[in-house]
Amino acid sequence: MQPTTLAFADNARKAMADETLQGSLKLLEKGWPVGRARAAADLPEFEALRDQGRDIKNHTLAHLDLYLEIFEERVKEAGGHVHWAKDAAEARGIVLGLCHEYGARTVTKSKSMIAEEIGLNEHLEENGIERVETDLGEYIIQLANEPPSHLVGPAIHKSMDDVRDLFQKHHGGERIEAPAALVGEARRVLREKYFAADIGITGANFLIAETGSAITVTNEGNAELTQGVPETQIVVTSIEKMVPRLFDAMTLLRLLARSATGQDFSAYTTIMTGPRRAGDLDGPRNFHVVLLDNGRSGMLGTAFQEMLRCIRCGACMNHCPVYLATGGHAYGWVYVGPMGSVLTPQFIGIDKGHPLPNASTFCGKCQEVCPVRIPLPKLMRHWREEQHERKLTPPRARLALAAWAFLARRPRLYHLATGIAMRVLGILGARDGFFSRMPLAGGWTVSRELPAPQGATFMSRYRRKGGRVT
Ligand code: SF4
Repeated sequence: MQPTTLAFADNARKAMADETLQGSLKLLEKGWPVGRARAAADLPEFEALRDQGRDIKNHTLAHLDLYLEIFEERVKEAGGHVHWAKDAAEARGIVLGLCHEYGARTVTKSKSMIAEEIGLNEHLEENGIERVETDLGEYIIQLANEPPSHLVGPAIHKSMDDVRDLFQKHHGGERIEAPAALVGEARRVLREKYFAADIGITGANFLIAETGSAITVTNEGNAELTQGVPETQIVVTSIEKMVPRLFDAMTLLRLLARSATGQDFSAYTTIMTGPRRAGDLDGPRNFHVVLLDNGRSGMLGTAFQEMLRCIRCGACMNHCPVYLATGGHAYGWVYVGPMGSVLTPQFIGIDKGHPLPNASTFCGKCQEVCPVRIPLPKLMRHWREEQHERKLTPPRARLALAAWAFLARRPRLYHLATGIAMRVLGILGARDGFFSRMPLAGGWTVSRELPAPQGATFMSRYRRKGGRVT
């Protein structure tokens, strides 16, 4: 996927004018965040679980080399294979090589953000391999030829009418109206694909070092059919998904569904360990795990190591005022919302990704709800600093910052200048009580009014009320 992150502002403007998208985002805002709040309130140990989740991931990241080696050994003992991919091109090459080795013409896929990250879908199709997405949301966006717009709900931007139109266009026949009938139609089409597939490609929510297992979590059971029916399974995943023990994964699983959708637990949680054993009724005969690095090992030991705790629950975007105004496509690459604003510059470079860390009000809601307590605003601030140091910020913003820094270093001048500015703005805004246009701050007043100040700075009003300023 070619990034369009540099066009974030234009993408966002278009998204905010898209009525269908705005309707979908309103529904999202009323759904998952409410469910998460209820699920968190219903579980007395929820906050303690978040601490445990953070600690499990921190411990694993501190010993990642050790756990990766144990994992590889266990996978081999179970009869499977581990492939190490240092970057996206290598990972794509490994998967395609396996497809050729097994003579695959058709693959089924369950949802995998790593596959999106490495551009696997396009690569398979360019090489003549039919790919069928089996997660309903992913299937819908495959038909629409669009990238996902949310980690958990990839087709969240689509309306029911969009889905009706897509199914009629691609499946033929009468237009199906009832939502349940649409689901039935998808099930009918996909069932045939599961049994025709040569290889099933899944992602993994977690990898377990002690058993060499991969865990998938779905609400549709599609990962189970993807991995269980074809002769060969390939797990396409990344190194930071590792946890030491099954017990640790259970802690994270209890956090994942609650944080994502407000469920106590996802409908299907499957632990996959190696290929089919003697006596097993089903399961793949060949089991491969592709472990992607793609810059992650370089994040270890840096400020961005904390980002590797992410369990891809989507809670940060469900609560982000920017995501809820623009949706995911405006972000212009695979990862969206606050987590995407930190990860995208890491993967595509700050020179291409710098608008994203600025797509935040720094309200802190993302950090407040992150199940593994990732300090997302702090990490976005790191990127902003880097952007500034590398002179990627627009000249006007640099000038404004330089002026502010000049004043901030001279407190008397600062108080004098802000005092005069507040008095002038107070007089100019006295009639309406707000400004609908503001020179040098046009972005703030595009879609909302700026309340007029009351003629004095906060500090002088604070002093007047007896507050002490040191
Ligand atoms: S950053 Fe936190 S809230 Fe956002 S997807 Fe990752 S784990 Fe979930």
